[in-house]
Amino acid sequence: MFFTRLKIFILAAIMLSAFSFFLLYKLDSYVKNEYISTVASQLSNITKLAFKTNSNIMYNAPSHNILLYDVLKGQQGYKDFWLYRSDVISNEKGLKKTNLKDIIERKVNLTKSSESSIAKIDGIGKYQIRVSTPIIASNFCLECHSGLKDGDIAGIVNTSFIVDDTMLMIYNSMKMELLAIIGVASLIFMFVMLFSINSFTRLAYNMKIAVQSATDGNFAIRIKNQGIGIFSEATKAANRLLEVLDKSITSIDAKIASIFVYKKSSYSNNPLLRITELIAEITNLFLFKNKIEAAKHNSEVCREIQNVISRYIKYKYLIFSEIIDGNIVSGYKVDNNSESKIVVGDVRSIENRFEVANPNVLFDDEKGCIFISTSIEQLNVIDLKIFISDDIVFYYSIALNSKKDLIEKENSIVRIYNYVREARPIIRNNILVKNIEESSYTDPLTKAYNRLYLEKYAISVDAKLKQHANFGVLMLDIDHFKKVNDTYGHAIGDMTIRLLTDSIRKAIRSNDKLFRYGGEEFVVILEGCDMKDARLIAEKIRTLFIAAKSCTANSSNSKSDTIEITFPKSVSIGVSAMPDFSRDIWECIKQADLALYEAKETGRNRVIKYSPELKVKEAQKNKKADVAQDNQNNQNNTDSVVNIDDDSDEVAFLESLKLNRN
Ligand code: GH3
Ligand code: MG
Ligand code: MG
Repeated sequence: MFFTRLKIFILAAIMLSAFSFFLLYKLDSYVKNEYISTVASQLSNITKLAFKTNSNIMYNAPSHNILLYDVLKGQQGYKDFWLYRSDVISNEKGLKKTNLKDIIERKVNLTKSSESSIAKIDGIGKYQIRVSTPIIASNFCLECHSGLKDGDIAGIVNTSFIVDDTMLMIYNSMKMELLAIIGVASLIFMFVMLFSINSFTRLAYNMKIAVQSATDGNFAIRIKNQGIGIFSEATKAANRLLEVLDKSITSIDAKIASIFVYKKSSYSNNPLLRITELIAEITNLFLFKNKIEAAKHNSEVCREIQNVISRYIKYKYLIFSEIIDGNIVSGYKVDNNSESKIVVGDVRSIENRFEVANPNVLFDDEKGCIFISTSIEQLNVIDLKIFISDDIVFYYSIALNSKKDLIEKENSIVRIYNYVREARPIIRNNILVKNIEESSYTDPLTKAYNRLYLEKYAISVDAKLKQHANFGVLMLDIDHFKKVNDTYGHAIGDMTIRLLTDSIRKAIRSNDKLFRYGGEEFVVILEGCDMKDARLIAEKIRTLFIAAKSCTANSSNSKSDTIEITFPKSVSIGVSAMPDFSRDIWECIKQADLALYEAKETGRNRVIKYSPELKVKEAQKNKKADVAQDNQNNQNNTDSVVNIDDDSDEVAFLESLKLNRN
């Protein structure tokens, strides 16, 4: 501020001095010229007067110069006098010809007007003034000089005078006074100017400070109101702008903080730049959210989280694992762009890091996300543990090259956390939706698909059949199951049903489908299977089920341990295949059902393949039943009810039922 004013002061002083000197110079030459021209015009007037009508000089032609000399020598400071005579006169009077002596005479001869000059005489403090005045021929001249015409130059009178510099000294002292006056005036002007610009320089200075601090991120500074009129308005407008910026930034900062976790130190100090960086990050977060919301499986969501980790941390390798009920159920290791599956089951190596006495907890949102860092010998890891639900945990173990890397990257975890926070509910929802979907399509007792899913699946089977796929269809029903329930109760009955589904699962492949069709009736659809293979699988199920053992709580034992129970049980299975006998799934199921019926009819505990004769047999049976019904209607008076079932094998089954305790 002080230096600014000093600079202005010096500048003004220089300008004023330059102006003063210019003024003096102008004044100097002006006064000098004025003085000279005054003296010169006096002399020239004298000369002219001398030649005027009736003057002695005029009528005493031969003594023009003598008489003129008399006139001039009387003048103060007279030094010299000479005359130029025009050639006309010299010729006319037979006088010696005179030449134009110098440039001044030539100029006077040409312009027909007086010329003067001044020259300082060295050493004596005096000036010589020379005046050359033309003698213009008039009528009187023509009387004696018939060769002349009116207005011609008859001659030039040159006179020189010595003037001392008293006049100029007076003028010089005047100049000093003038200089002093100009100096004082300049000083006054300068102070007035400084005083009047003071408020403006102060305003400019204050503006500079405020704008500079705003540029550096401090919007709290206001410009002190300076000046008047437009300057005051400019100050107010600038202050309003600063205030709007200040309030907006504070509010944006607060809003961002409410949706986004961040460490200020990770971003630019300047709030405007910081907000720009944060908005870029929030945009990424938004895009990430869009992506994971559109993801069909949680595995895709987990990959997106991995991409985010890769964006912020350059790792040596990364291990992802999904833990359900304390066991790793899936996972992989990414290492230099190659990927390998990890050993499932063992979760201890990661868990150990969380269990050390003082884990270096980098971040813990206390709701389900913890970051810890571990640095032991060669191991420099950031572990991210995301709690999805009570029993599901996702782990990301991010191994870094050195401890230095580890420390550097510790700041990045807050950034990663924002993404994890968005992903967690989506992962949870996906699991919920999957569970709901599964439960709506599965039977809770056996976890086999239900009829609803069979209808849905039937559509895809139709589509696959069109693409020449083949299917085997099994229809299964536990033999004499009512008796199992009656003898052992429903709980054992339920367990028996589960034993059958376990046996089925052991015999089929992962893309085969098991459906609970009725109470203890199941349908199995075997993909890519013909009648022969389907029968083999059915046989396998039948034998597995017979041999299956079940455990139950030993109620008679106070220690309430379990006991293994076996009892005679069997299953009858009907088999059909597509497209061998049908191109329609429901038709094929019906065929398998007919075969099952045949298995029951022919003694149970067996596998029967469908054949078209079974259909004929069924038709005949239906016809017989219709006839029997008609007969019964005709014998309205008959009281006894005829039991048409042949229960001989049921009696044998009942006899064989016994409980073996091991
Ligand atoms: P069959 O050899 O002719 O099949 O004789 P069955 O006694 O098994 O006769 P059926 O297949 O008609 O038996 C069905 C019985 O299964 C009737 C019902 O009490 C029983 N049941 C159906 N669903 C369940 C269930 O979820 N749990 C139990 N414990 N029993 C069931
Ligand atoms: Mg049955
Ligand atoms: Mg049944």
